[in-house]
Amino acid sequence: MAIQWFPGHMHLTKKAIAERIKEIDVVIELLDARLPGSSANPMLADLTGHKPGLKILNKQDLADPAQTQAWLAHYNAQPATRAIGLDASQTAPARQLIDACHALAPNRGGMAKPMRVLICGIPNVGKSTLINTLTGARKAKTGDEAGITKLEQRIVLADDFYLWDTPGMLWPRIIVAKSGYNLAASGAVGRNAFDEELVALELLSYLKDHYAALVEARFRIDPIAGLADDEVLDAIGRKRGALLGKGKVNMQKAAEIVMHEFRSGNMGRITLETPEEFAQWLAEGQRL
Ligand code: GDP
Repeated sequence: MAIQWFPGHMHLTKKAIAERIKEIDVVIELLDARLPGSSANPMLADLTGHKPGLKILNKQDLADPAQTQAWLAHYNAQPATRAIGLDASQTAPARQLIDACHALAPNRGGMAKPMRVLICGIPNVGKSTLINTLTGARKAKTGDEAGITKLEQRIVLADDFYLWDTPGMLWPRIIVAKSGYNLAASGAVGRNAFDEELVALELLSYLKDHYAALVEARFRIDPIAGLADDEVLDAIGRKRGALLGKGKVNMQKAAEIVMHEFRSGNMGRITLETPEEFAQWLAEGQRL
């Protein structure tokens, strides 16, 4: 069963963005550096048209640095697009986005023509953290009750730099099966929307091919190259004492352990898709 998760209220967000976009100079899309392709919302491109775009690969502290460079190069090669990597909790690098916006819209700036920026991103990508870092606010502005429209928020970053937070919620749009698994593994999809064991097996399948040494080191297990995905999960469960009795592994518990270790970055810096792989998933056409 593939993951499909597309809650309602999207039309409200869509309408609000469409109304705001006319007076916007640069659109920032916050992406998860571990899954840039899958954490994008394809609808946004249609809504924002030809506006210059800044892609921020957030949580780069958790992602594979080599793959972050590959994704940055991929986006920077696109017209009217720039990309930067960030760890949203660090103040100084976050200021980079101001410079990047000025580079994208050089005719904006100054009191007469302030820079007007719209910031978008799927839930959990780190938007509140980034906004708080930029504004120096101590407490997150919350109100992210799933799918409920919240009031549009304008943040003044400088006298001539306004940042609008997207009204409503921009849900991920899962168009290929692998994106669904990657979103679930990253924590972007609500827990009760998917089967954890299935997601953990898909995650291990990718890690086995790309980051086997990190898995082996973290769980202190023997080389996993020749193993089936469920055998890897079984070995991890055994090592961590996730047992049901009679020597059987509690695969559900083992799956939870794998996901926790991935999300917290305990296995090391991992990216779940390269630009080429993501393009191939789209081309393979297993569209949902
Ligand atoms: P929002 O739903 O997009 O507003 O996401 P939040 O700002 O609430 O962040 C979601 C989670 O990701 C929180 O636990 C943050 O602490 C964490 N987070 C945000 N940015 C980063 C980052 O750059 N690196 C890491 N490691 N965690 C981050």
